[in-house]
Amino acid sequence: MEVKKWKKDETPYYIFACLKCGRMLYVKTVQKTKKCLTCNRVHQVAKLPGNTEIVYGMSSAIDAVKQKQNALAIQKTGHTPDLRANNDFHIASHSVEQPDLHKKLSNPDEIDVNYADAFRALLKDLFLQFNRFPRYMIVMIAPEYHIPEHEIPILMSRFTQKGSLIALQNDYYTLK
Ligand SMILES: [Zn+2]
Repeated sequence: MEVKKWKKDETPYYIFACLKCGRMLYVKTVQKTKKCLTCNRVHQVAKLPGNTEIVYGMSSAIDAVKQKQNALAIQKTGHTPDLRANNDFHIASHSVEQPDLHKKLSNPDEIDVNYADAFRALLKDLFLQFNRFPRYMIVMIAPEYHIPEHEIPILMSRFTQKGSLIALQNDYYTLK
């Protein structure tokens, strides 16, 4: 039912660069606006150029954005960026360890404080596009919101406990 429908996701998405900072973005073609995750610039989807690239399916959209983002980074720096550091500071953060990982591990209550807003934005985006969405989708797009994978289970249980994230069957979720 839902799973089958998901696998055949052929929703069209525009792929375009943020007009202000150049970050690559994707947006469902029927969505009205898209806010840049880096600089918060809001784009009116109806005003995107007529030749804006379209891809089908959210995972294709994410792949296209990643590939273009990496191509841009190579152009700028002349070398391949670290794919794990999927953010705007990939070069600087290349060899930097997570500074307060140790502190966080010893104080679990503070683990998701920094990521709660980003996670809320992620859930809201998924909810607006799909209404119901599987867990792996959350994991797949988390890097777009600079959320480390190991934070996701913690954030999910926190949001579920608060009642804002609702678990459905087959590992699908929705918002209240
Ligand atoms: Zn931007």
